[in-house]
Amino acid sequence: MLTLKNFINGEFYDAEDYLESENPSTGKIWAQVPNSNEREVNEAVNSAKNAFHKWSNISAQERSRYLMKIAELLEKRLEEFAIAESTDQGKPVSLARAVDIPRAVYNFRFFASVILHNLEDSVFQEEFGTLNYTQSCPVGVAGLISPWNLPLYLLTWKIAPAIAAGCTVVCKPSEMTSVTAFMLCEVLKQAELPDGVVNIVFGTGNRTGNAIVKHRDVPLISFTGSTVTASRIREGSTDLCKKFSFELGGKNAAIVFKDANLENCFPVIMKSSYANQGEICLCTSRIYVQEEIFEQFISKYIELARNIKVGDPEDPNTNMGALISRQHYNKVKSYIDLSKKIGGKILCGDGVDELKLPENCKDGYFILPTAITNVADDSPLMQEEIFGPVTCIVPFKTEEEVIKRANNSDYGLCASIWSENVGTIHRVAKALNVGTVWANCWLIRNLNMPFGGMKESGTGREGAKQSLDFFTEKKTICVKIK
Ligand code: NAD
Repeated sequence: MLTLKNFINGEFYDAEDYLESENPSTGKIWAQVPNSNEREVNEAVNSAKNAFHKWSNISAQERSRYLMKIAELLEKRLEEFAIAESTDQGKPVSLARAVDIPRAVYNFRFFASVILHNLEDSVFQEEFGTLNYTQSCPVGVAGLISPWNLPLYLLTWKIAPAIAAGCTVVCKPSEMTSVTAFMLCEVLKQAELPDGVVNIVFGTGNRTGNAIVKHRDVPLISFTGSTVTASRIREGSTDLCKKFSFELGGKNAAIVFKDANLENCFPVIMKSSYANQGEICLCTSRIYVQEEIFEQFISKYIELARNIKVGDPEDPNTNMGALISRQHYNKVKSYIDLSKKIGGKILCGDGVDELKLPENCKDGYFILPTAITNVADDSPLMQEEIFGPVTCIVPFKTEEEVIKRANNSDYGLCASIWSENVGTIHRVAKALNVGTVWANCWLIRNLNMPFGGMKESGTGREGAKQSLDFFTEKKTICVKIK
């Protein structure tokens, strides 16, 4: 059994209280995680505060070198991190090895490079006998709070830009998936990152997260998680001047027009439905298919969904692993049960197909890739974020109609359009109220591009320039020269 420790001012500390963390594919406890209290958070914030002056005043080149070193050391332990991430979260180890951990490495490399080119510090203007210029100043101690679905990938997507910009940080990963963040602390130590630049405290949202968010010496919070938690954080914020970035939930639509190239569409749309057990904020959960190809579409979709191998995340042939927890499993199941009560038709997956699991996974939280049709646009299945391997597939007639229906959502994170007509793509992309539109593809991310949600999917944007903007403030300096 692993016992994690808090990482404060470059040292590891036992916590006063501990929580248990499960391996979701076996249902067995595999790690003890600190449940840090206000005092422990306070220590982490003080450590970040003390480190801030020195860290924010070293050159961007020097900060960049530290980030490169962290990337190099993390990459050397890629396999070990991939196994830990898969055990902790339930995702197939093949996915952690190919996507999660390489992306965490890349997050450090990317911002190591961006910081050398992207801080626009030299806007000079001579006017009224003065010389004016701006400086990008790191804001201070940043609170970074991340979810359980892409644990290290998303945490490092915050740590890397924050420290590249010159902030020091106090981080809290999800209490359900804390192990790779703990392992990252060892890497930070090995990279000789100055003490106090990155502090990681573990614990629940209500206790540890809340203490970070409310702390008076933490002037900015970068949060990725659910919309419900974000609104709780905002409501509870007593400090009017705190800066927030919120990356939240989604109820993402895919729109498949009758002229789509289905051969190209299917492998991608299956991934967008079921990758990481559907536990990615960008996963597709509503699929609108033009009525002329609806029957053809669903029969191929069912065939492909049934070919997805669900089971032991450690098995290299597994395509889909376990859901994060018993509680989340019950939530996803409740939507499938509800569909039966409201006249939905389950096309494949839970409730109609048999789930065969290896002996070691019998107590894990597995659900088959499930697709449902005959559901009304205003039903909870089409409106609420299920965050699991469940899609709803419904027909549509016209472009105008499908735009309205796709936009009929409180969320606005992303969408995908499938068509061979360039005009259709541009018209529909413009009309959709979402932060990202993919056309004939999904999840291809150029990290220079802004990323974030509209409506209840978030506020603020992340990306090369956008993340650095968030962690800095512009200062104007005006000097009389005549
Ligand atoms: P969550 O909101 O329950 O928790 C997210 C983090 O916030 C966790 O670390 C949690 O401990 C912490 N937290 C909870 N209550 C808190 C409080 N009162 N104060 C401070 N911190 C608190 O979300 P989750 O279940 O871990 O993650 C799933 C959600 O995240 C989904 O809605 C998903 O769509 C969303 N998500 C969004 C993106 C994006 O980029 N838009 C990416 C990944 C996940």
